[in-house]
This record gives sequence, structure tokens and C-alpha cells, in this order.
Amino acid sequence: MTDIAIAADTRDLFSKFDPLIAEREALLATGVRDPFSIVMDEVKSPTLAVIRGKETILLGTYNYMGMTFDPDVIAAGKKALDEFGAGTTGSRVLNGTYQGHAEVETALREFYGTSGAMVFSTGYQANLGVISTLAGKGDYVVLDADSHASIYDGCFLGDADIVRFRHNSVEDLDKRLGRLPPQALKLVVLEGVYSMLGDVAPLPAMIAAVRKHPNCMILVDEAHGMGFFGEHGRGVYEEQGVEADVDFVVGTFSKSVGTVGGFCVSNHPKFEILRLVCRPYVFTASLPPSVVATAATSIRKLMHAGDKRAHLWKNSRRLHQGLTDLGFTLGTKTPQSAIIAVILNDQAQAVAIWQTLLELGLYVNMARPPATPAGTFLLRCSLCADHSDEQVEQIIGMFAIAGKATGATG
Ligand code: PMP
Repeated sequence: MTDIAIAADTRDLFSKFDPLIAEREALLATGVRDPFSIVMDEVKSPTLAVIRGKETILLGTYNYMGMTFDPDVIAAGKKALDEFGAGTTGSRVLNGTYQGHAEVETALREFYGTSGAMVFSTGYQANLGVISTLAGKGDYVVLDADSHASIYDGCFLGDADIVRFRHNSVEDLDKRLGRLPPQALKLVVLEGVYSMLGDVAPLPAMIAAVRKHPNCMILVDEAHGMGFFGEHGRGVYEEQGVEADVDFVVGTFSKSVGTVGGFCVSNHPKFEILRLVCRPYVFTASLPPSVVATAATSIRKLMHAGDKRAHLWKNSRRLHQGLTDLGFTLGTKTPQSAIIAVILNDQAQAVAIWQTLLELGLYVNMARPPATPAGTFLLRCSLCADHSDEQVEQIIGMFAIAGKATGATG
């Protein structure tokens, strides 16, 4: 730190951020709260927290199945903390594989019905690791233009050539694959649910398009599909009946599973070799024992969570209908997932509604470019199976007030 005044014209490596700093300062000067520095002072349940002394309904957590406070999950974490300590202090390939890491991989193999499962420290690292290790220089990664940052970063780390197709366009995917050299090796990366607008991929049609072209493997990111879609909660690829056609599924423990971590599952006979060659797996510390214990317990419970899935669908449909009736523009015309995105005109309007909702006692996620598609500003709502019917009605009531107060709805 230095207290020497920095001359206005001084250029250094931070200079490229000057436009963003100026934009933020201008926004905060209008007196709004900073949407990206919220502190949860207390968290009472998957759906309730205290923010600056106010009890607040949580509607932007991706805690779809409410597993963060499941008593069995918490008990498993406490037991592992007592028995195995606070952390592993080591890589999975050295001293960082404990009985709990093996156990959570067994739970994943059972949950997904696959022969292989590999756990990473986050879902970001799972995409980074798997994509960069599978697709290197001279290979192609063919991805949806709206793919998550971790998918793009996996391509950069591996130095593969990136080919983007238009979001959820089967025709564009087919066309772009058709232009690539037939002998080249390609990894096609799809997501079950796209997290910005909450829309679902038409996987059977996309996979049929891929299968017309030689030398393609398919990876589906089910970060937002796991727990909620399909009879066993495996994801959109299960719900849409294409399990046999997908080579790799990547997922996270930070949404439906309710803790932190990432994974990849596969039936490929050579899958295990990735453990030795995947840099984001090898060169980082493994998850703490308490985390893998909570994840394993949660995953096993999610196998039998049909009732929770049904309630989450009910909540998602009700909120979608309620916000549509109020006149908001949503990311999808019909409810497709537990993510319901409210599309707004600009940053000022988005922040105004976001802040009004917070003052009323409702937290939603704000998203802005470059994370959002087509330069949109979004209020992203994600429902939880633990939201009660009354809470969903309260949420709709708060949107009604905020929409009117800010002029966003009539
Ligand atoms: N993939 C997708 C589609 C995601 O939305 C996210 C998280 N937002 C991730 C991967 C990364 O997951 P994690 O939080 O475990 O790093």
C-alpha cells in the first residue's frame, strides 16, 4: 500500500480498468448499494438470510435442492471435521486423497451410473481441467456462444482452436462442424441449462447433428441440471434420454449438492489417465474432508429426492407465471428450469429494481455484460425446493411493488 497520490495520467497495468472504475463510481455516486458486495451477516436456512439487519428471502443462490442445511449433510461434515481434520494440505495425486474423496467418487459413479468419476476442487476447475487436457493444440472445441466462462477458459488453457455456434442453434452447430477438417479431433461442449436466461438445450437434436460428423466427442455441463432434471436427478441429458450419447458430464457441488467442488463422470475406458495429466487436478490442493463428506451424503440423498424436485418445479412455474402476469420480460416464454431471468433495459433500471427488492427483503442476483448474452442486464432469480408456497407469493408481491416503484412495469 502507498499513500503517495497517483498522478491522473500515470499509466500502469491497471489502466485498462479505468473505464470500469469510472462506470462503477458513477453508478455508486447515484446512491445505490453495490450489487456486487453484499454480505450475508447470518444465514438462517437455504431460503432466509439476514443482510444489514433485515431478514431477507434468498432468490439467487442456485441452492436448488436446499441441501446446505440438510441435517444429515451437516452431521456428515462435522464428523469428518472431527475425524480427519480441517484440510488435506495436498494434491489428490500426493497426500490429498482421503477415504472421503474416494467415497464421494463412489457416490458419483452410483448417482450417474458411470464407470468413472473424478472430483475437482470446483466446477470451474473441472471444466478448466477436462477441456484443456482433452483438447490441445491442433484439436477443436466446438461450443455454444453463451457457454460459461470456465468452458472458454478451458479452451484457452489447452490451446485448442475454438469454434462457436449460435446459442442453442442445431443448424449452426451442424454447419460449423461441417467446415472443420474431417480428420481433426473435436470436443463438442454443451450445457443442459444455460444459467443466464435459464433455457434448456435441445440435446437430442444437437447430438444427432454432431453424430453426422467424424471424430467428435461430446461433453455436457450439467451444473444447473443436476439434482432437478431427470428421474434420478442426473440432469437435462437424462431427462431428454441421451445418456448413452454423452461422453463426459461435468458438474458442480456448489448448486444442488449444496457445498463446493466439481466433477467429471464418464464411461470412457481410459478416463482414469486424466488424473495424471490434468493440471487443474494435479497442481492444487484437494477439497477438505468435511466438504467431501457433505457432498457424498447430499449426492446420495439427491438420488431419492423426487418430492423435492416436484416442489421445485411447482415453485418455478408459479414464479414464472406471477412475473409474466406483472408484465416483466423473462428469459424464456415458458418455465424451462429453476432459473427465471428478468430482462431489463439498462444498468440503471436493473440496479434500481434490485435495490428496491433488497430493501423489501428479497435478494436476487444481478448480472451484467460481459457475463450476459447480447449485452442484457438481468435480475436472475433461482428457486429452491425449500421455498414455501407462501414465500413464492411474497416474492411475487415484492416484484409487483418494485416494478411499479421503478416504472419497470405499469
Ligand atoms: N459451469 C456452469 C454452467 C456454471 O454456471 C458454473 C458456476 N456458475 C460452473 C460451471 C462452475 O461451478 P463452480 O461454482 O463449482 O466453480
